[in-house]
Amino acid sequence: MSDRTIEALLREERTFPPPASFQRSAVMGDKQIYDTAARDLEGFWARAAEELHWFKKWDKVLDWKLPYAKWFVGGQTNISYNCIDRHVAGGRRTKAAIIWEGEPGDQRVLTYGDLRREVSKFANVLKQLGVRRGDRVAIYLPMIPELPIAMLACARIGAAHNVVFGGFSAEALRDRINDAQAKVLITADGGWRRGNIVPLKRNVDEALTGTPTIENVVVVKRVGEAAPIHIKEGRDHWWHRLMAEASPVCEAVPLDSEEMLYLLYTSGTTGKPKGIIHTTGGYMVGTYQTMKWIFDLAPDDVFWCTADIGWVTGHSYIVYGPLANGATTVMYEGTADYPDKDRNWAIVEKYGVSIIYTAPTAIRTFMKWGTEFPAKRDLSSLRLLGTVGEPINPEAWIWYHQYIGGGRCPVVDTWWQTETGMILITPLPALTTLKPGSATHPFPGVGAEIFNEQGQPVKANEGGYLVLTRPWPAMLRGIYRDPDRYVKQYWSRFPGVYFTGDGAKRDADGYFWLLGRVDDVINVSGHRIGTYEVESALVDNPAVAEAAVIGVTHDIKGQAIAAFVTLKEGQKPGPQMVEMLKEHVVKKIGALARPEQILFAGELPKTRSGKIMRRLLRDVAEGRVLGDTTTLADPAVVETLKARYEEEAG
Ligand code: ATP
Ligand code: MG
Repeated sequence: MSDRTIEALLREERTFPPPASFQRSAVMGDKQIYDTAARDLEGFWARAAEELHWFKKWDKVLDWKLPYAKWFVGGQTNISYNCIDRHVAGGRRTKAAIIWEGEPGDQRVLTYGDLRREVSKFANVLKQLGVRRGDRVAIYLPMIPELPIAMLACARIGAAHNVVFGGFSAEALRDRINDAQAKVLITADGGWRRGNIVPLKRNVDEALTGTPTIENVVVVKRVGEAAPIHIKEGRDHWWHRLMAEASPVCEAVPLDSEEMLYLLYTSGTTGKPKGIIHTTGGYMVGTYQTMKWIFDLAPDDVFWCTADIGWVTGHSYIVYGPLANGATTVMYEGTADYPDKDRNWAIVEKYGVSIIYTAPTAIRTFMKWGTEFPAKRDLSSLRLLGTVGEPINPEAWIWYHQYIGGGRCPVVDTWWQTETGMILITPLPALTTLKPGSATHPFPGVGAEIFNEQGQPVKANEGGYLVLTRPWPAMLRGIYRDPDRYVKQYWSRFPGVYFTGDGAKRDADGYFWLLGRVDDVINVSGHRIGTYEVESALVDNPAVAEAAVIGVTHDIKGQAIAAFVTLKEGQKPGPQMVEMLKEHVVKKIGALARPEQILFAGELPKTRSGKIMRRLLRDVAEGRVLGDTTTLADPAVVETLKARYEEEAG
């Protein structure tokens, strides 16, 4: 990568040392921790594990036979016990475990005591429906408390859950049920979205015409009379009826560390989703420890991760991480703009949220809406901000820090994947001086390197492939029923290391900068340019809300840059704007990064978890048939773009 592009990345030169309040009282304030963990990886993770409850202690911390790791071998534990019973026994019976805000404004608070009762009852329901240890249970629910209750009930009896995001279609649901061979499905009659009803049960009825393994369906009544549904006798059962008769006592079953906890399909940004396997002991320890240190969790914190539980972020940092720590976790059913664009900030104000964890795509949307919405609400309870999902453009980082965090809250930019189960590259708020746009350093004990094509570590400021060099407890244990793909996808590009598929560089101070997917890197006349760099340059312009950049085939240059741009409210598209933006990129990065084409878009094609799908934009720009679109949030967006593109190209 050329020096000029590097310069562009580092143009935000302000750094942010930990505030004094964090240095005084942080959960993890020991600078030596990185060395300690690197010297004795097993000892480091064993100490974290010892803070949790084990029915039987492990014989061996790590059994590493590349590419298969086993953690806490011989140990027996239960994550449901650790997330609930451990706290009830430890004096937190009446502490709020889950604060739930419904879209229409209804709310529910479940204490740890409530959670034990509800989870135990539902575990008994599952048993009664024939679910046994080792079975898979599919969950297709809106963001309502029954969702974490169902997950924890599965974990309590040793059944693996497979949560399918409630926004997915019947077809996507059917594919996942069949791949997982799930025996029971848990759903709701419907869910609320911007005042409308999402017809979950109707999708289920359609999906279940082709799912031979499903024997029973449990249906939560969420919308009721607003959308009556069909109940199929013998197959479908109302949640509240089964729960009314269920015993409130169900002891958590001691499970082997390596028993499957859940299956979860990746977002599908780069292709067909992969069914990622996570197991019990290592995942529990990894999410527990990262949650505690990265979010500096104190007993009176109110933690809100705005993700959907249908993604790994929700699994690890709405449900398991916070509850394993005995924290209070907020979950919200609806969207950030309903009934108005200050909804998230109203929730922060209402519950006194002290830590918020969201995504760059959301932050860019808030920027587009304007600062008047956060300004309407009291955000003084916030003390720490987090982000995950895509590289965060420095512009968005500064905005988040300033307008949400009031300039006083550190921002933890956390890099990880469905496959990694836990955050792997991240600041620690009391120890790390932040650089906007950088995820900073590997978590203690995590080995990360940046390789060139030949598998050698690159020099400072050179871009390359991000790889992971040491096993970590929450790492995936495989792709469900596809061991070959597991080896091929993660362990074949370079011998002995995990291939993340992401590009990164490390600056002279040793900070990691994520540069986007390696498949998205553009090669213009021999210069490798990260899509993220050009996008950040575009977003840096005050007229631009969001940008997606791709490479298109070019006769002379090999590849040329095409940019799809969404403008801020009130900005005018047109030839003048195109010229102005091209010049802006040239000024920021250099002539080699001048976009060949700029196309204005009302919206960009995104996955349902909010990530820009550049591969579809490449299909559009190169006139190909669109690839897999099943994980798109709104297929119409890319269809519109395709039509516009063809029209403009003549
Ligand atoms: P698929 O693997 O099916 O293509 P996906 O990679 O989008 O989908 P996830 O596991 O949800 O599915 O996302 C992980 C990816 O998200 C990472 O590999 C990385 O590209 C991106 N990512 C997550 N957090 C960050 C971050 N803080 N900075 C940069 N990129 C991030
Ligand atoms: Mg991925």
